[in-house]
Amino acid sequence: MKQKKLLYTGKAKSVYRTDVKGKLIVEFRDDITAFDGGKKDTLKNKGSYNAGVSAFVFSYLEKNGVKTHFLEMLDEKRMVVCELSMIPLEVIVRNLAAGSIVRNYPFKEGTPLKPPVIVIDYKDDSRHDPMLNDDLTVALKIATPAELKRIKTIARKVNALLSGLLAKQGITLVDFKMEFGRQGKTIYLGDEISMDSMRLWDKKTGESLDKDVYRFNKGDVMVTYNRVAARITKKPGAAAKKTVVDPKKAKPKAR
Ligand code: 5GP
Repeated sequence: MKQKKLLYTGKAKSVYRTDVKGKLIVEFRDDITAFDGGKKDTLKNKGSYNAGVSAFVFSYLEKNGVKTHFLEMLDEKRMVVCELSMIPLEVIVRNLAAGSIVRNYPFKEGTPLKPPVIVIDYKDDSRHDPMLNDDLTVALKIATPAELKRIKTIARKVNALLSGLLAKQGITLVDFKMEFGRQGKTIYLGDEISMDSMRLWDKKTGESLDKDVYRFNKGDVMVTYNRVAARITKKPGAAAKKTVVDPKKAKPKAR
């Protein structure tokens, strides 16, 4: 498959046309941003950690009956996806109170939300992604009531599957963001599911295992992404990446 024209550049991903109709390439770049782009950096390997986790999660969801745009990985950073007509919504599912709902509402951080709370924002950086309700979404012709119902059903299912998957690795899925698109009348899960779009806490220590490490200077975010990617994908190789030694360059062992 050949990568063709650049279609779109986001804050951390670029989307390209290919020589195959209906298939696009999403490149996960090494860029990381927070606070509407107010904080930004480029960090080596970041793209591959997020691409690897997204591919793993999408494959797992597909096996469990969720339709996603994921087709295959071309290499560590480039994902082949089916082309969708994207719906400009950020669909956030929250299992515990954290982040913006603690800042904006009288929730104590860490309060379990049962049933999980679904919040839908209008994806528009220039307006700082304002929160929508169903009536506004329909009035803006972003989605029909039937589509909204379907999106929420898929969001709850993804949340249940993903929470279970992560719990097995000792990780609490606090909240996460999804984006959806249409192909004809069918709704697909698009975009990414990665450490940039999930809020994850270690079940034992409560430590942040996601972009909050970068947002709030809690430590070396790439060390966190490397470890959490290995934990989620169960590939010890991901964690070992940095320590691979070229035998030609290796120093002889001191005796
Ligand atoms: P909050 O509303 O607390 O800032 O975010 C809730 C969850 O949605 C977090 O897991 C956060 O990472 C994710 N999220 C919210 N907005 C965005 C966004 O614009 N981009 C990405 N990648 N994730 C987002």
